[in-house]
Amino acid sequence: MKIQEADAKSLLLAHGLPVPPWELARSPAEVRAAAERFFAAGAARVVVKAQVLVGGRGKAGGVKLAGSADEAEAVGAAILGMEIKGITVRKVLVAEAAEIVREYYLGAILDRASRRIVVMASAEGGVEIEEVARTNPGAIHRLATHPFLGLQPWQARQLAYAVGLGGHVRDFVRIAGGLVATMRDRDADLVEVNPLAVVRGAPGPAGQATDQLVCLDAKITLDDSALSRHPDLEAMRDLDEEDPVDVEARSLGINYIHLDGSIGCMVNGAGLAMTTMDLVKRAGGEPANFLDIGGGAKAERVAAAMRLILADPKVQAILVNIFGGITRGDEVAHGLIEARSRQSREVPMVVRIVGTNAEEAARLLREARFETAASLDEAAATAVAIAAGGAMGGAA
Ligand code: GDP
Ligand code: MN
Repeated sequence: MKIQEADAKSLLLAHGLPVPPWELARSPAEVRAAAERFFAAGAARVVVKAQVLVGGRGKAGGVKLAGSADEAEAVGAAILGMEIKGITVRKVLVAEAAEIVREYYLGAILDRASRRIVVMASAEGGVEIEEVARTNPGAIHRLATHPFLGLQPWQARQLAYAVGLGGHVRDFVRIAGGLVATMRDRDADLVEVNPLAVVRGAPGPAGQATDQLVCLDAKITLDDSALSRHPDLEAMRDLDEEDPVDVEARSLGINYIHLDGSIGCMVNGAGLAMTTMDLVKRAGGEPANFLDIGGGAKAERVAAAMRLILADPKVQAILVNIFGGITRGDEVAHGLIEARSRQSREVPMVVRIVGTNAEEAARLLREARFETAASLDEAAATAVAIAAGGAMGGAA
């Protein structure tokens, strides 16, 4: 699960990382009010940043500076409602604009190959790290943390010198440590600060420059499978940016993953669902989704799953593959009949039900003139043929 910059910043702040204060705003008037508070507190300029779950907001025009409340309101009006990579901006972050001296990159990822948290840093900050990886891979310095000891201060120091942050070693070590701690404590897959910036602070008592290292941007991806351990993080889910079908599937407790193909699959059990996808592929088709209706599904749940599948306009055929154990075949058949009577558009369906009450299911489906298949191979082949437009459609 991706979370917004503002939420990611709260998590970093909770681990003691230096993050400049911010406010969130949902309208130009709110942007103005927030900006006025920063100006009153002594800010020379404010920065207004689109809160969307995609990178490259700066390049897309979603990050802008303003020197007055009027300008902040105008910038807010321009950013709110704009589209960035297909996502409409509904909220912005407002903060005092930092005077950036230099931008660095600092990130931590869970590296599955080495099974460790890997920390990466680069002097090429401010641009997307994927781009640096492509154009100048040598500019990214990496280190693997110890599974028990975590990030050792000496390792972090090496990284600081490697990227040329020698003047801020102490702060860098603290920040990198906090980044890794955030990652472990919150079960994140990725924690990224880009830019980690050297910013000009207020002059010291003798008028000397007081540059500081601060986190100007934050990106965190949480491990979905670990969310049950963090009820507080669930509140950071941004429903504004989630596919409504995914939201509905989760609320129904149906395990659903949208894919790109044309054959909708309704299966019970994750293993059988994956097998079904493999068979669809082997028969030359592409699955439109992974969908596990779970054990003991009742008619209502089957009908709900059908709604989720049909919400995808690319679906040309539906393959239902049920292995009745706790799940009763006749319940599923009732659900399918019910779902078809209510379905928004006519999509051919091939059904294979075996196991508990399969005979009863077969009778119900025959009476309702459903297309059934005796074997899974046959079911997959028929569904693929229908989706390709080669076979008869709909009820046989
Ligand atoms: P991203 O493009 O989505 O990664 O958004 P960022 O938060 O990283 O902002 C993009 C760029 O805007 C940064 O790399 C900075 O160059 C600039 N920027 C962001 N915040 C400030 C700020 O407070 N002051 C100044 N001068 N520039 C900023
Ligand atoms: Mn950034």
